[in-house]
Amino acid sequence: MNTEILCVGTELLLGDTVNTNASYICLKLAEVGIDCFYHSVVGDNSEKIKSGLDIALKRADLIIITGGLGPTDDDITMQSAADYFSKDLVFNEDAYQKVREFFESRNRKVPQKAKKQAYFPEGAEIIPNFTGTAPGVFWKINGKILIILPGVPDELYKMWETSIQEKLRSFSDSVLIKRFLKFFGIPEGTVGEKIKDLMALENPTVAPLVSDGQVNVRIVAKAATVQQAESSIKNIEKQVLQRIGEFFWGYDNDSLEKVVGQALAQKKLSVSVAESCTGGLISSRLTDISGSSSYIKLNLTTYSNEAKINTLKVNPELIDKYGAVSEPVAREMAENVRKYSKTDIGLGVTGIAGPAGGTPEKPVGLVYIGLSDKDRAVVHRVNINPEFERKVVKHRASQYALNFLRLFITEFQNISG
Ligand code: ATP
Ligand code: MG
Repeated sequence: MNTEILCVGTELLLGDTVNTNASYICLKLAEVGIDCFYHSVVGDNSEKIKSGLDIALKRADLIIITGGLGPTDDDITMQSAADYFSKDLVFNEDAYQKVREFFESRNRKVPQKAKKQAYFPEGAEIIPNFTGTAPGVFWKINGKILIILPGVPDELYKMWETSIQEKLRSFSDSVLIKRFLKFFGIPEGTVGEKIKDLMALENPTVAPLVSDGQVNVRIVAKAATVQQAESSIKNIEKQVLQRIGEFFWGYDNDSLEKVVGQALAQKKLSVSVAESCTGGLISSRLTDISGSSSYIKLNLTTYSNEAKINTLKVNPELIDKYGAVSEPVAREMAENVRKYSKTDIGLGVTGIAGPAGGTPEKPVGLVYIGLSDKDRAVVHRVNINPEFERKVVKHRASQYALNFLRLFITEFQNISG
């Protein structure tokens, strides 16, 4: 079954509201294996709604319309859909009773205009709205299915969960399962070359996507059962990892801080962090993970040279000779914070977040990331695009630091036993 989502709302066209309803509906349709090939948006205008519907009916079997079911004069979706099929809107006493109860239970007078929300196209099934006043409809007409739902996202979600998802399941004989494989340090073009043949497959589909400066590979499988879909995803995943597995770090909703936390907990290692240009961001991200107190001992933001010298005991001669943003200083930050806090690993980060402060030798985006344990002290130098705004440079620096930390933890076992 092919689907089109038609969202109604002038605020969507003006860009004031992001079309999150379409995104939500797509994700839910995918869960039940229903394809969505088109999204469209029209303003609160009857002619535009009817012409949007006309286009959608030509290319889809299921049309899901959201928005414009409220009581005000610009809420005209139900009327427009009925007009399109030359059907009348019919008053439904039960639905009106529920609208009245909604207001009365809140000690509010029922507005005159609320009655409008108890009119539905003749022949349509009413979908109750438990969190708002405007019910939706599930309407089989002329061999097509129209689902009309309110625009308010929370109302729509609840109606989808309680009524729509189950109904749609019976129209689909397949399931669709999606998996993201996350990579760090390999460009999109290289990924594209390495998995070119897999990207040509029709089921599962395989596609590289850039997110946050790194590449995710998305695998989507459609099959009759969850087990079949899972097994074909596993097969593709294996092939992808055989080719670019050295850059792989996580799945789906994994974050680097979560993966780092798991690795530290698993190896019973502790870490301490000394930050400069990231201003505590790495510390904040690491402590976003529940249970992080078992592996984080001390996090310092030593932003000024004085703090680096007085608190972290960085040798002032190193700062004089090489500057605060330098390999030797990053190394000392990592070593000193580790020794002072008596942790297994120390991480030190110093760089230039911009937009000011860059020089030809040390441009904006230059970041040194030091890592130390009892056997090793290494420093990585990275150059983040200086055109990025300050917040992005800081975030990217934290990404690099967490990824180097992840790799350092992996290697820790090899060296220490
Ligand atoms: P209401 O009773 O509030 O009038 P409605 O069904 O008429 O409900 P709209 O008037 O279209 O819905 O939108 C109500 C609210 O929901 C608005 O704040 C709007 O920004 C938001 N909204 C509408 N459509 C979408 C959408 N596609 N994605 C995200 N938010 C939306
Ligand atoms: Mg409205």
